[in-house]
Amino acid sequence: MLPALSRFSGLRAISRASAKKDFLFEYFPIQPPDYSIKTSQRLFALNQRSFLSSLVYIEHKDSKIDPSTLNTLVAAKQIGGPISALVAGSNAQEVAQAVSKIDGVEKVIVANNPIFDHNLAEAITPLLLAVQKAENPTHVLASHNSVGKRILPRFAALIDSQQISDIIKVVDETTFVRPIYAGNALETVQSSDSVKIITVRSSSFPQAEAGSSSAAVSEAPTPEVSVKSKWIGEEVTKGDRPELGSAKIVVSGGRAVKSKEGFDLIQKLADKMGAAVGASRAAVDAGYCDNSLQVGQTGKIVAPQLYIAIGISGAIQHLAGMKDSKVIVAINKDADAPIFQLADYSLVGDLFTVVPEMIEKI
Ligand code: FAD
Repeated sequence: MLPALSRFSGLRAISRASAKKDFLFEYFPIQPPDYSIKTSQRLFALNQRSFLSSLVYIEHKDSKIDPSTLNTLVAAKQIGGPISALVAGSNAQEVAQAVSKIDGVEKVIVANNPIFDHNLAEAITPLLLAVQKAENPTHVLASHNSVGKRILPRFAALIDSQQISDIIKVVDETTFVRPIYAGNALETVQSSDSVKIITVRSSSFPQAEAGSSSAAVSEAPTPEVSVKSKWIGEEVTKGDRPELGSAKIVVSGGRAVKSKEGFDLIQKLADKMGAAVGASRAAVDAGYCDNSLQVGQTGKIVAPQLYIAIGISGAIQHLAGMKDSKVIVAINKDADAPIFQLADYSLVGDLFTVVPEMIEKI
C-alpha cells in the first residue's frame, strides 16, 4: 500500500472573497501539491489518471434517493471518470431505475436483498468490498453523514487504505480540501492510495440532476454476510417543516429563549417563513428543543440561503455548523456578541420584542 499523504507546507491567513470569513486560516501547499512525492508515486498517480472511476454508495429511504447522495454524485463527477452507483436493500431495484437516469451515472449495481436494509454497516461493508473487487474503482464515495461515517471507515480498514473525510472541494483526482479544527482551518489532503475512500460534505456540492441518457443496471456480486447486530426500529419526528440539512431558510434559537415556550417563538417565525428550525447546543442541552435541531460542530452542518440566529452568541462550535450560509442575520441584545462579526445583517435588540414583531409583520 502506498501511504496516504497529508502534507502542509505553510500556514497563512487568507483574504477570502467574503470579509466575514477573514478570521479563517487555510493550510496550503507552497509549491504544486505533488512536488515532494517520490517519482514512483507520481508515475503511479499519473498512470492512474487514465483509469479514473468512482463508485458511489447510494442512500435511499421509502424508495426515494437521499438528497445528500445527489451531492456526493456531483463530487464524484468533479473527480472525473465514469461513475458506478451501488444501490442495496429490499427495494433496490426500484431505486436503481431512478439512479440510472441521473446525470453522470454510467452503471448502477443492484443488491436487491433485505439483509442490506437500514444501511447496517456490518452488512453493507462486505457488499462494498465485493463490488470494489469486481469493479476496481479508483475512488469510493459516500455522504459524510451517520451512514457514510459508519460504513466507509470499516471498508477503508479492510482494504488497508486511509479515508479522506468530509471533503468540501475536489482539487483534482488525488487532492481534496476538508475543514479541520471545527472549520477554523482548511486542510488540503493529497492521497496516493490506490483506492481513495472519501466522505463528502453535502452542503458544499450542488445536487446531481436527471441526465439525458439511462445507465446500465447490473446485479452486484453476492458477498458472505454475517450480521450480529439487528435493526430494532426508529423514532422519527415528522413535521411539515423543511428538513434542516437541506432547507433554504433556517431560523435558529439559542439559550436566550429561556424556555420551551420561548422556543415556540422561533418555531412560529420559522413557520411564517417556510423555514427549518435550528438550535444552539445550549438550547438543546437546556431541553428547550429536540437535539435533532442542533447546528454546529457536534450537530448538523447547514449552508442555507438565509440563516437567522436568534439569541445565539456565536461560539466557534456553533459557527462551524452554519458559517457557510449565504446570508446570515443575527439578533442579539449584546452589541458585542461574536455572532455579529460573521453576520451580514445585525439586529441589536431583545428577541422577545423583535421576534413577535417579525412574526406579525411577515
Ligand atoms: P450563549 O453562549 O449563552 O449565548 C446566548 C446569547 O443570547 C448571548 O449572546 C446573549 O447576549 C444573547 N441574549 C440573551 N438574552 C437575549 C435576549 N433577550 N434577546 C436577544 N439576545 C439575547 N454549540 C452549538 O451550538 N453547536 C454545537 O454543535 C456545539 N458543539 C460543541 C462541541 C464541543 C466539544 C463543545 C465544548 C461545545 C460545543 N458547543 C456547541 C457549545 C458552544 O461552545 C456554546 O456553548 C453554545 O453554542 C452556546 O449557545 P448559545 O449561543 O445559545 O448560548
